[in-house]
Amino acid sequence: MDSKYKSKCPRCGKERIVLNTWVENIKTYSGTSQLVHTHTGCPDPECQKKVEADIAAQRAQIENMLLEREKKNSK
Ligand SMILES: [Zn+2]
Repeated sequence: MDSKYKSKCPRCGKERIVLNTWVENIKTYSGTSQLVHTHTGCPDPECQKKVEADIAAQRAQIENMLLEREKKNSK
């Protein structure tokens, strides 16, 4: 159910598409392991921009909140 929600754009409800995939090599104790990253987004570039702006704004808000909390705690 959760993955179904994630596969749709939260803004316009269109099916999300894979925008980019890349492979990262991660060094482990036994050698190298490959981790595949997938970047998905809205098929509508304008909508995708807005979604990313929303995410950035949300992140900034959370960061501010945490900073404020730290300030209060350090007093
Ligand atoms: Zn969209």
